[in-house]
Amino acid sequence: MIDRGSRWRDRLGEEVSCAVCGETRDSTEVDRMLWCEDCQAVARARAGRVGLRVGIVVAAALAAWIWWGVQPSRMIAGAWIATVVAAGWLGAKIGREVAYGIYRTRETDPDRIRGTDPDTHGA
Ligand SMILES: [Zn+2]
Repeated sequence: MIDRGSRWRDRLGEEVSCAVCGETRDSTEVDRMLWCEDCQAVARARAGRVGLRVGIVVAAALAAWIWWGVQPSRMIAGAWIATVVAAGWLGAKIGREVAYGIYRTRETDPDRIRGTDPDTHGA
């Protein structure tokens, strides 16, 4: 595991600048896209919030469809609730991954990455 990741790190110097915040970091503290751990954490947290919203929307839409469309009997309400919860969880997971992927590929502007997190790095 360490061997696999070390090859690309060898090409970097001891210190590199983070692609997002521009801070100089030790090369072991950045990933392949030269994002430092702080910037990765901020992007992940932001993506998590987006994912949560996606999950809520998915769960609400499914619940509405079940309630008005399927009109389940009370006997199997538990199964439907479990379905809604599972859909929401999956929606949140997918939404988070998609949002994180978008941040990682498109956003290198620290202000946009950290737009909702003014407290980090005292920015
Ligand atoms: Zn950074």
